Amino acid sequence: MAKDKSKAANQPQNQHASDNNVVQLPTRCPVDKCGKKPYKSSFCEEHFTWFKEGLINRKGERPRDFDKKYQAFLKRQKQAA
Ligand SMILES: [Zn+2]
Repeated sequence: MAKDKSKAANQPQNQHASDNNVVQLPTRCPVDKCGKKPYKSSFCEEHFTWFKEGLINRKGERPRDFDKKYQAFLKRQKQAA
């Protein structure tokens, strides 16, 4: 019997070097339930102010004492007005 097992199909695998380390520019404000268009530093205008005031971190996450900080922030805004 003739062995006719041609193993020519040795195709090079299309290996995609996963570019997971590419920093994706956010297209929306990262703050929970916001999703507005970024204004600065990927935050919307309102939340960029929050970030500047230390109400949220770079990722748009609120600290545990967010409420306290937010109240103080509101107070400051009132005084500035
Ligand atoms: Zn926002």
